[in-house]
Amino acid sequence: MDLSPGTMKLHARYSALNLLRAAWRDHTDWVPAWSDAEPKPRYDVIVIGGGGHGLATAYYLAKNHGITNVAVIEKGWIGGGNTGRNTTIVRSNYLFPESARLYDFSVHLFENLSKELNFNIMFSQRGVITLAHTRHDLDNVSRWANAMRFNGIDADMLDVGQVQKLAPRLNFGPDARFPILGGFIQRRAGPARHDAVAWSYARGASALGVDIIQNCAVTGFIKNDGKVVGVTTHHKGVAREIRAEKVAMAVAGHSSHVAAMAGLSLPVTSYTLQAMVSEPIKPVLDTVVLSPAVGTYWSQSDKGEVVIGGALDHFPSYGQRGSFGITQQVLAATVEMFPSFGRLRLMRQWGGIVDVVQDSSPIIGATPVPGLYINCGWGTGGFKSIPVGGWTLAHLLATGKTHELAEPFQLDRFRTGRLIDEAAAAGIAH
Ligand SMILES: Cc1cc2nc3c(=O)[nH]c(=O)nc-3n(C[C@H](O)[C@H](O)[C@H](O)COP(=O)(O)OP(=O)(O)OC[C@H]3O[C@@H](n4cnc5c(N)ncnc54)[C@H](O)[C@@H]3O)c2cc1C
Repeated sequence: MDLSPGTMKLHARYSALNLLRAAWRDHTDWVPAWSDAEPKPRYDVIVIGGGGHGLATAYYLAKNHGITNVAVIEKGWIGGGNTGRNTTIVRSNYLFPESARLYDFSVHLFENLSKELNFNIMFSQRGVITLAHTRHDLDNVSRWANAMRFNGIDADMLDVGQVQKLAPRLNFGPDARFPILGGFIQRRAGPARHDAVAWSYARGASALGVDIIQNCAVTGFIKNDGKVVGVTTHHKGVAREIRAEKVAMAVAGHSSHVAAMAGLSLPVTSYTLQAMVSEPIKPVLDTVVLSPAVGTYWSQSDKGEVVIGGALDHFPSYGQRGSFGITQQVLAATVEMFPSFGRLRLMRQWGGIVDVVQDSSPIIGATPVPGLYINCGWGTGGFKSIPVGGWTLAHLLATGKTHELAEPFQLDRFRTGRLIDEAAAAGIAH
């Protein structure tokens, strides 16, 4: 993509100089970051779902493969699904080589994303610490860290003193219910700004000619001889048909629902995952801390809020709020692990519908329904994989060949039994 000054309208490119120029004109002539398109009757590719994965797919179709006659169809607003609801942790501390390759490729893409897309996604590689509370935990995290190093990914074991130096507000008291014996850190991991990831991909894709169509729900598939050749939609109160050579879906928690419209049954169950933030405070935590034992993790946002994430609800649901039992469990863990946070007020709590598969690994590939492709199954951990999810799906759509990184993550593995069970590796899998 070329977002260089000469190729875009005045103030389309974000730079200090353009900021000054725009300020001179009272910021009246910025161009919109992306155009809100009206649907055309036909495209080469339709991507259903304007979350990070859908937008990244469209961007890489245009950027890597020159396919620009593409529509991203989003039933609400872009980034309004899990992409805008997650706790933004990017990491590649997975156990199996297949996952390590996939997620680390994504971390590398994240490292260059602000520059490539000319949009500050605020990726802050401040490290993610996984705590060990027992001798058994220590064995477990050292096995985990060793596996990462075998896979060529950075991981360092930490003793209790090193953890204390990095996160002094943790509970190191003699009567701590969960004594901290050490842990390990992936230093290249850390949070990024979720909205910025969605917006930057949308802006990049739109600049290359992709149509981004919001408030347009896909209501069904058009088939010809069993092949998907388009979708039916509901856009601004009007029912429309939009046709395409290929249709891809990246709709996360709605995957089984949308796939069912094409007659496809997916091994995906939808659960609510919730998160919450405290009132903003001065910097107190400049790393990310995860305790698999209490099923909770903490970071501090650039605005100062303590961002707290926890486990899934114990039952399938499409309710975007999360159950009180989990809220209570997460907050109890928070005040135990960070006693001083007990004095903070909780500012917001919310939920997102995540797409969980049995082995906690994604599905990126063709489906048994000709013309229909999927990207789903990221469950509680697909923010970090937005770049690689888009990259690999775009490759398949453009070339007809599965990208080598996506090869192990085909739907077929549920038939062959070649599962990649990352549930244990990810602890709580965010
Ligand atoms: C509370 C929480 C915390 C999380 N924390 C992390 C984390 O720290 N790190 C991490 O890596 N991951 C995390 N995740 C997971 C991550 O957010 C998701 O895996 C990721 O955002 C999925 O992106 P997506 O683009 O596939 O889906 P989404 O962003 O959900 O986008 C899918 C889009 O499809 C649209 N859609 C659905 N049905 C239709 C239809 N019929 N027609 C048109 N559009 C449709 C939806 O409106 C939605 O916008 C977390 C998730 C939650 C909920």
